[in-house]
Amino acid sequence: MNIFARPMNSSLEEPIVALATAQGQAAIALIRVSGKDCHTLIENIFRQKNGKPLSSIKRNRMYYGDLMHTQSNTMVDEVMLCAYQAPYSYTGQDMLEISCHGSLFIQQQIIQLLISLGVRHAQPGEFTMRAYLNGKMDLSRAEAVADLIASENESQHKVALHHLKGDYASEILKLKDKLIEFASLIELENDFSEEDVEFADRTQLVKVLSESKMHLNTLLQSFATGQAIKEGIPVVIAGKPNAGKSTLLNALFGDERAIVSSIAGTTRDTIEEKIHLKGIQFRFIDTAGLRETNDEVEMIGVKRALQKIDEAAVLLYLIDVLGNDVEAIHQEMDEVRERLGKMDEIIFVLNKSDKANEKLLAHFENKTGVLCISAKEQWKTDELLEMIFDKNGLSAVNYNQSIVINARHYDALEKASNALKHVLHSIEQKKSNDLIALDLRHALMHVGEISGGITHEDVLSSIFSRFCIGK
Ligand code: GDP
Repeated sequence: MNIFARPMNSSLEEPIVALATAQGQAAIALIRVSGKDCHTLIENIFRQKNGKPLSSIKRNRMYYGDLMHTQSNTMVDEVMLCAYQAPYSYTGQDMLEISCHGSLFIQQQIIQLLISLGVRHAQPGEFTMRAYLNGKMDLSRAEAVADLIASENESQHKVALHHLKGDYASEILKLKDKLIEFASLIELENDFSEEDVEFADRTQLVKVLSESKMHLNTLLQSFATGQAIKEGIPVVIAGKPNAGKSTLLNALFGDERAIVSSIAGTTRDTIEEKIHLKGIQFRFIDTAGLRETNDEVEMIGVKRALQKIDEAAVLLYLIDVLGNDVEAIHQEMDEVRERLGKMDEIIFVLNKSDKANEKLLAHFENKTGVLCISAKEQWKTDELLEMIFDKNGLSAVNYNQSIVINARHYDALEKASNALKHVLHSIEQKKSNDLIALDLRHALMHVGEISGGITHEDVLSSIFSRFCIGK
């Protein structure tokens, strides 16, 4: 029996319709229908080209024919109709997929036609929600569908596929099974409490719990990488006016996105650009120059720059080496460290090296967290990109391992890990079985939330509202 299967109620069976392809004109559009009697509904409006009646739609077959207006008996479009019979469909219900010509007018006509027959517009994610509620997939896989659709680069695609294939779900399920085994033994001991029996070997229990906790912690640690993959890594470019920030941004992107000028204080606001590097998305943020100013607009820019620096995963702090000696550069670095307090995230980029004297460059060569470049001559800019990549620990991501990308999962895993910590503590303190059982139940409940051991309507609708209509 599938533990995720839930009884269907009437509103779940109601036929729904939505455009599954992108809004707008295209060669072909796909309209999806799911729900009870949707096959019967179509009988009245679809005429097969071969003239055969459509009274017994066979599962997973394509039909070629005309869609007709019922009242006027006029043709709407020539379409391909794919009929799926429950439970062998995406939603687990009877389904239809109509491939029509992609004119906006035709799309609307077909949807209106279906609505006139009693089908209603689908909510965002309603098809996948039905798939989940009908036991076609667990919750983590349903969420992976949304991530897969949203994936913009290789890393996001790889992680979403790993989750969709169910590797992550089965890892969680195995963990849950281990805990269930022990929880049931402890509960059994509770039932026989008067006879003082011990079904769950305590040494073995501690071993399994510690291993499970370590497993949870590994998953929790992967969230930082997951977030970097999902949201992109914010890299802030900061430094005094005229250090060459805009030139660097342009050098990295190869076009003139930021305004470059030799008048100090040109970049008054922040400019953000996305770049995909080895399948990871980076968000480069060019900030206003950091300097004391009385100019009101520039002051706002400086304030925004400080905010962005606070949120940055990597801070590229540019220093103009021209007109600066070694001491002055060290002094600026110390001031920055003191003012911004970000030690690990800073890369000091000594710019305009093309014009700098060799002694100065030699002094800073091979210093940790420092790189001499020339943004203008694009000298060592590739090396800089590599350094940014390394700073985020992204050089060695193993996509065959589970990477947590979902904040809801992170939250559940953290709660489960805390509950296991309590269980271990209770065992160590030789506390009562009731307490141990209670914490084990909590851990199980939280692990279960990931795969779908939750039924609260609000949680489900918040998950599925992230989807687009038609999925
Ligand atoms: P920002 O205010 O920090 O954004 O600085 P800009 O990018 O506008 O650059 C200020 C000036 O420095 C411009 O005239 C740039 O051409 C010049 N500049 C930037 N990078 C370099 C470099 O690597 N070498 C040299 N020689 N000049 C540079």
